[in-house]
Amino acid sequence: MILIRHLRWRLRPLAALSGPSFSTLTASASAAAVETERTIRDGPRNDWSRDEIKSIYDSPILDLLFHGAQVHRHTHKFREVQQCTLLSIKTGGCTEDCSYCPQSSRYDTGLKAQKLMNKDAVLEAAKKAKEAGSTRFCMGAAWRDTFGRKTNFNQILEYVSEIRAMGMEVCCTLGMLEKQQAEELKKAGLTAYNHNLDTSREYYPNIITTRSYDERLATLQHVREAGISVCSGGIIGLGEGEEDRVGLLHTLATLPMHPESVPINALVPVKGTPLQDQKPVEIWEMIRMIATARIVMPRAMVRLSAGRVRFSMPEQALCFLAGANSIFTGEKLLTTPNNDFDADQMMFKILGLTCKAPSFPEAESTLGPQTCEEAISNVG
Ligand code: SF4
Repeated sequence: MILIRHLRWRLRPLAALSGPSFSTLTASASAAAVETERTIRDGPRNDWSRDEIKSIYDSPILDLLFHGAQVHRHTHKFREVQQCTLLSIKTGGCTEDCSYCPQSSRYDTGLKAQKLMNKDAVLEAAKKAKEAGSTRFCMGAAWRDTFGRKTNFNQILEYVSEIRAMGMEVCCTLGMLEKQQAEELKKAGLTAYNHNLDTSREYYPNIITTRSYDERLATLQHVREAGISVCSGGIIGLGEGEEDRVGLLHTLATLPMHPESVPINALVPVKGTPLQDQKPVEIWEMIRMIATARIVMPRAMVRLSAGRVRFSMPEQALCFLAGANSIFTGEKLLTTPNNDFDADQMMFKILGLTCKAPSFPEAESTLGPQTCEEAISNVG
């Protein structure tokens, strides 16, 4: 009888647990367990303290993984993983000094600077990406900002409109944006703008000195105010401490609105950059970041991004379990190597993953196909 009663309690959904009995039960529970219960019951919140996020991050790893999975299953279709393609449309020659980046003109990485890719080449790449199952196409340009780049910027607006008309989500990462440029991108049909914070405010000056954390936040604000989805995350393995990883998640999770998209990157050290000798990130570090991001920003797309190439299929499976629901496919991620296409297809099959259809704001929903299969078969 006692056993049955015990089992009944174990089978109750977490969301049903509340009131004094639950507080007693959680006296010995991990922060990941307690905050997961709260997130599932109350929904997303923006008033996280840094200590609260640190406690989640420091929870025993299997507990953190389990609760990341619980929030994930509660908030998303857990088998769906969005495939995105990131194309470098203007490579190298960047004036910034981001210590991890082979595209900075300050480091001798052997990368040749190129001009903005022409329209035919970009549209061809988008078409191929769509045929291969991508539902989001991201264009990256190695610029500090887009100020005073009228001709190139107008060209990019055209690329955005045309790719959006293919029924794909379109994202750009072009450096800092002014308010008006964000509005123009929105008008052209841009779905999302990526601008990573990279790391914590405290560690940031060790990585970049040519623009400030606040300038990055100002760009995110312009993007948000223009009505474009915000894509912002960071990179681990830059030499930062765990408190910096927590600091990054804290900044993102306490923005007035959580980013719709949070890429978690593991540094891919490139010869010639100041971070060329950094030791590779362990899978457990990725899982900690992903599961914590999932619990504190439950509705965001958490994107397993750069560095995935180093992780085996079982390791990636743990990332999906912890709450990641997007990957970047294609030969390269900007300039660094990425996972093999066939291996990714095999992984989807073995893990039973399904591809996620593009999603657009309601007002635009007639512009795009509704299912992933339609999205792929409608390539013109
Ligand atoms: S990360 Fe972007 S801004 Fe920084 S150096 Fe590379 S291309 Fe330039």
